[in-house]
Amino acid sequence: MAQPHPSSAKPRPGFPARLDVRNASTPPVRPVAPSGPVPAHKPKVHLAHGVGLDSSAVRQSMVNKLAQQGMTDAAVLQAMGSIERHRFVDSALVNQAYEDTSLPIGLGQTISKPGVVCRMLGLLRQGNPGRLGRVLEIGTGCGYQAALLSLLCSEVYSMERLRGLHDKARDNLRHLRLANVHLLFGDGMPGYAKGAPYAGIIAAAGGEAVPQAWIDQLAVGGRLVAPVSAGAISAGKQVLMVIDKTPHGVRQAVMEGVFFVPLKSGIA
Ligand code: SAH
Repeated sequence: MAQPHPSSAKPRPGFPARLDVRNASTPPVRPVAPSGPVPAHKPKVHLAHGVGLDSSAVRQSMVNKLAQQGMTDAAVLQAMGSIERHRFVDSALVNQAYEDTSLPIGLGQTISKPGVVCRMLGLLRQGNPGRLGRVLEIGTGCGYQAALLSLLCSEVYSMERLRGLHDKARDNLRHLRLANVHLLFGDGMPGYAKGAPYAGIIAAAGGEAVPQAWIDQLAVGGRLVAPVSAGAISAGKQVLMVIDKTPHGVRQAVMEGVFFVPLKSGIA
């Protein structure tokens, strides 16, 4: 089996260390005050207008809706206000990029709904107001969540088992020049021991159980957020699982029902 290897091992000329929002095509987005009043107006913004897309208002509207739905993590909301989700979906779908819906990204996979991404990132960061340390993401997909993680963590290791999506994520992320994102082509089931221990592990694909390797690679004090098959509780359904590794052992909590693509073994 091919060994996972960081794409970042190849030279990436001109990648500066930080996302420079001043150079982005849209102005930086205001931080959202989670407890403050949220404007109810709906901006009339058309995305598919060729060059010079003005997506900041419609993205801010998405963020405001997430805040209204009870998402309170200001850092996650701010990250979602600055990463341009429309750049991660096919051009035919840009008009839906800021709706709370999952969208196809090719090879039978999907980019998760913004609401679910926001919820999972909030859970990952819960109790950690600052920047997280090293984080492992299983299921890079189009790279959207990896881009968000890059703003919230010191290092992001993101694994994808489908070569076509690994390549697509690299293309999608190129313009952001994120030096702390390491895209790995490989099966994420055994985790990625070279980057361990992780302050956080987040999976975007659901299996029958959380692989033991992920728990082993979690730092003490670290948290894992992953969808898993609800199995005995409800056949064919998935739930979100939160696993904390404490000095006294592993603590699990089952959250709400979710719908993710399956976690699969091997590469393709
Ligand atoms: N976070 C992604 C969501 C991608 S969907 C985004 O923002 O777009 C989940 C991804 O998990 C799919 O691309 C799928 O190929 C991948 N996947 C499933 N099983 C995997 C495994 N064992 N290792 C790595 N990736 C896996």
